[in-house]
Amino acid sequence: MNEPHGLLLQPIRPLLHLGRAALHFVFPPACPLCQADVDHSEVQPVSARLCGKCLSEVSKPRGNRCRRCGLPVGPYVRSDEGCPKCRSHKFRFQQVIRFGLYDDALRQACIRAKATTQFPLAAALANLLWLSEQLDLQAANVDVIAPVPCHWTRRVMRPHHAAETISRVLAKRLKKPLHRSLLCKKRLTTDQSDLPAAQRRLNLKDAFAVPWHSRSPTGKTVLLVDDILTTGTTANECTRTLLNAGAKQVIVAVISVVP
Ligand SMILES: [Zn+2]
Ligand SMILES: [Zn+2]
Repeated sequence: MNEPHGLLLQPIRPLLHLGRAALHFVFPPACPLCQADVDHSEVQPVSARLCGKCLSEVSKPRGNRCRRCGLPVGPYVRSDEGCPKCRSHKFRFQQVIRFGLYDDALRQACIRAKATTQFPLAAALANLLWLSEQLDLQAANVDVIAPVPCHWTRRVMRPHHAAETISRVLAKRLKKPLHRSLLCKKRLTTDQSDLPAAQRRLNLKDAFAVPWHSRSPTGKTVLLVDDILTTGTTANECTRTLLNAGAKQVIVAVISVVP
């Protein structure tokens, strides 16, 4: 899909480079987290767009994690069937792929990435997820990528939807189709973070659907993308909806999981 565009852009590529250089001269590239100027000639490929200081603050040693819920587990613990923290949960998704834990600097970054103007920060965090978890993301062999949806009224109030921005980056990196509207949120619900764990599932019961105009997920492995995984209730309800619509399996990808 990108190839024809690439060929079309070939003759004007030098002009695009010149345009970008001029833009950087007038508006020097800044770190989307701390706004410090970023010297792109010094930036490591892994930093994507964050400055070196922010990159080191949000990045922790990768460590062993539970394949099923993404939480840290001991170095020799096998977690194919889950870890002590998630074994009692009836998660319908197969696996959680995540960049880090929702604490310290990464927590602040995830909160800020939700803001309307913070599209570049959400994209930078998505790039970090890709660069850190590329092997797992590729091994998942997904057919299609879909964001956890928000209700249309939220979209009107807040045009930037972090899950969608992260999905876009992952779709581009994995070279797989992004189905932005594979799922929709049928009704407005109370913010999950305002509710105790026991009420979260009830709050989201039948809240999601695969709309009639959407492409069918039948037989497909779906990469379901969100910014933060808290109790897993939202991802689980989306997974239930996708499986009921015929999806083969669902893998969840998030920037951070709440420890
Ligand atoms: Zn920074
Ligand atoms: Zn677990």
